[in-house]
Amino acid sequence: MKRKLVVGNWKMNGDRARNRVLLDQILGGMPSGVDCAVCVPFPYLAQVNEILEGSGIALGAQDVSEFSDGAYTGDVSVAMLADWGVRFVVVGHSERRTLHHESDEVVARKTVAVLDGELTPIVCVGETLAERESGVTEQVLMRQLDALAAVLPSAVLQRVVIAYEPVWAIGTGRAATAEQVQAVLSFVRGWLARHVEAANEVRVLYGGSVKPETAEALFGLPDADGGLIGGASLDAPSFLEICRAAA
Ligand code: 13P
Repeated sequence: MKRKLVVGNWKMNGDRARNRVLLDQILGGMPSGVDCAVCVPFPYLAQVNEILEGSGIALGAQDVSEFSDGAYTGDVSVAMLADWGVRFVVVGHSERRTLHHESDEVVARKTVAVLDGELTPIVCVGETLAERESGVTEQVLMRQLDALAAVLPSAVLQRVVIAYEPVWAIGTGRAATAEQVQAVLSFVRGWLARHVEAANEVRVLYGGSVKPETAEALFGLPDADGGLIGGASLDAPSFLEICRAAA
């Protein structure tokens, strides 16, 4: 059985004092039997790396440059992330696709950079409410996923984690229903089966308003391998309960 993966995406939240309290609480209650990571803002990578050292919780980042070292003011390279012990990198989060106009191609190139650096990308895909309501969810997902297959050989693509995050469910308190999630996860799994050798070994996560009350049903879906958690990852009791639901 594949272990489930629960990833906290802190987004642009935290400060040194709060990070310490939150992580101490999480480390004190983390169940075994689940893989866990926290993706923290760049300035806190060093602090969180030190706090997590020797624990079973992995360090993650929320974005990365598609370029390696050089004249890219403001960017952070994969090598820099690796230097701080980062193992997972969120790529193509809808907030970056929308607010920073990251195209499918940019997201794909960042994914390549992360894989070249031997880290694990968590590639976010998902439709907006307007896209869902006009019935094009699968076309949108296909376009986002095909951009990855266009630049990644199958054996490398095999190493990605995919996170299905419907844009309308992020931060809204309105999680997708179990049926809606399973339908899309199964579509993603079908896409993977056409592009990689071992589609069942690729972890496919769900993200979008996951709460302690909804986690168990979502993680129990046939094609769900865990979750990408925003708001609830900032509250230790909630995050721990979500991790227990995946353990
Ligand atoms: P929320 O859990 O706050 O809806 O955020 C989900 C998300 O965007 C995780 O990447």
